[in-house]
Amino acid sequence: MQNPYSIFHTYHFSLSTLPTTGYVPRLADDRIGTFMTYYQDYTDFGSETPYVRYINRWNLKKKDTSAAVSEPVEPIVFWVENTVPEEFRAVVAEGIEFWNTSFEKIGFKNAIVAKQMPDTATWDPADVRYSTIRWILQPGQTYASGPSRANPFTGQIYDADVRISADFVRLIFSQFNNSVAPVSFDGRGVERPGKIQPPVGPHNVTFDNNSYEVAEEAAFGLECVLASSSSPAVQDSLKKRYVYEYLRWLVAHEVGHTLGFRHNFKSSAIYSMEQLADSTFTRTHSMSGSIMDYPSPYVAGRGKPQGHFCAPIPGPADNWTVEYAYSDWGTGSPEEEKPRLEKIASRAAEPQLIYATDEDTYSGSMKSVDPECNVWDLGDDVIGFCVHKIGLTRDLWLRALGDLERPGVRYPRIRTAFQFGWRSYTDAATWAPKFIGGIHGSRDHIGDPNARLPFLNVSAADQRRAMKFMQDYLFAPDAFELPAELLNKLAPDRLPDFDGSNYTVAQLDYPIHQQALRVQTAAIDRLYGPFIIGRLLNNAVKYASGEDRYLMVDMFADMRKGIWAEALSPKSVNSFRRQLQLAHLEKLIGVYLSAPATYPSDARTLAANDLNLLETACTRTAATPGVDAMSQAHFKEVVRQIQAAQGAQREYGSTFLIGQ
Ligand SMILES: [Zn+2]
Repeated sequence: MQNPYSIFHTYHFSLSTLPTTGYVPRLADDRIGTFMTYYQDYTDFGSETPYVRYINRWNLKKKDTSAAVSEPVEPIVFWVENTVPEEFRAVVAEGIEFWNTSFEKIGFKNAIVAKQMPDTATWDPADVRYSTIRWILQPGQTYASGPSRANPFTGQIYDADVRISADFVRLIFSQFNNSVAPVSFDGRGVERPGKIQPPVGPHNVTFDNNSYEVAEEAAFGLECVLASSSSPAVQDSLKKRYVYEYLRWLVAHEVGHTLGFRHNFKSSAIYSMEQLADSTFTRTHSMSGSIMDYPSPYVAGRGKPQGHFCAPIPGPADNWTVEYAYSDWGTGSPEEEKPRLEKIASRAAEPQLIYATDEDTYSGSMKSVDPECNVWDLGDDVIGFCVHKIGLTRDLWLRALGDLERPGVRYPRIRTAFQFGWRSYTDAATWAPKFIGGIHGSRDHIGDPNARLPFLNVSAADQRRAMKFMQDYLFAPDAFELPAELLNKLAPDRLPDFDGSNYTVAQLDYPIHQQALRVQTAAIDRLYGPFIIGRLLNNAVKYASGEDRYLMVDMFADMRKGIWAEALSPKSVNSFRRQLQLAHLEKLIGVYLSAPATYPSDARTLAANDLNLLETACTRTAATPGVDAMSQAHFKEVVRQIQAAQGAQREYGSTFLIGQ
């Protein structure tokens, strides 16, 4: 589209010779989290598959192959670009060399070396001969990424340039109040401070977009850290340590991608919260199986000793991946290495080595079956962590925001801090439903020691616990009741910015009901989505013989009894619950009137059953003395909608027939 703006583009074309000599490609394995280079080989018709898959890795070789520990012939060198602010150069270098402890375990000393790019350097960071950590100034853009280039025939990595946007750290430091629009809505329909980053396209070989949500999670963590003390001196000290640890983790994570390593989003599930609270433990065991997870920083909360915020060393799964990818056996061909690689990979069932990656997590999609495979969770008890995180939020909302209210602080600062609290609820609305019809997954191979089956139903007890958590923390009548005084402080920023936020702000006053409903409907949409309903049907026949089962009928009954408690034992219903009940009703009617291909027939039957029961209960409650006028009108409207649905047309494929 034409417009009056102009922009100068400068293009650099770099041509380089592919490294081809002295490198032995390494065969890939689906139990190990590495990026891969693959092609099809049609010269052998007898092979199981035409695919040949190699891992991506640097050509790291021992200088002294007979020594137990040796320096490499050529270390992997990362230059800290001279645009990195001086105060962060040391921690960036620490993040680069973070991985050396893993390499030491396989006999490499100083495998990775950080160097400082001098101001007098005559080379450009885009030069393929230099791998760098770059500091990019892109106002309002919060991201870090770790792309690399690899030989498309062998997987040999020969160049990598980690990019960190300056605003990433700025946003953590300033809790987002300097450079982002005050309010917008995220993909999950929840108001959040700041802008939504556009999706970034895939990179040629390896890619990570450690983006807005990482910074937002970090900023939420910092708000909770600051809330844990009202002493400015203690707050300042905690803040410095927090940013330091977070940045070190961030650089190490991105460098991990450039070493050829993929995400491991299940690895945060190996330690308990008690272990994570103990810095003596985390100093020697790390805080998750892998730093290639997106962990939530550990925040102890008010009155509790604070351990590490972020992992101080690589985790056991990191060491394992490094062992697979970089062990130097002096072998001459990929085939020759097979037995050694199999020995390493066959440890997959060891509890500390659990691995699940992006396509197991599918971001927040319910395609992801495993409730322990999440981003931003922490510890071996996801529901327990939801309770912990919501506890931090309640403390932030109900106490710490009061501390913020002092001369010199403007109200938008309070609204911004308040907004971060929703993270704990949106996470809970994403994670808890995954237990219902959930499945624990593994990648173990047949014959691995202690090998698990690829799929194992989540226990009925854990599914019931997740359901109770949602009823208590997301759907309860008082779940989002907050003091009027607090709600009336939540003012947006009125100062102008480059984005015209004063005009695009969703609304000036605070939409508490809409916010609450968005969290609740996020959970309801997931629970009644075709993925969970379909799994509940299928999982029923996948429990071990005699095992306690949680079935589709249990899910429908628990939701009906929890959300409609006021209709089932007649009493008035408050405004949060009225809108929740209507949202649930809409979902039930949607399932009831759905096309047969969308839901299993049992789901439509159970929806019809719920509608019948609710029609009876709401008719009675609407006529019960003492029920207030608004509640009476509400229950009458529920009955009207049910009766309308019962007489409505149901969709059968592309044709409409009369229902009932
Ligand atoms: Zn990443």
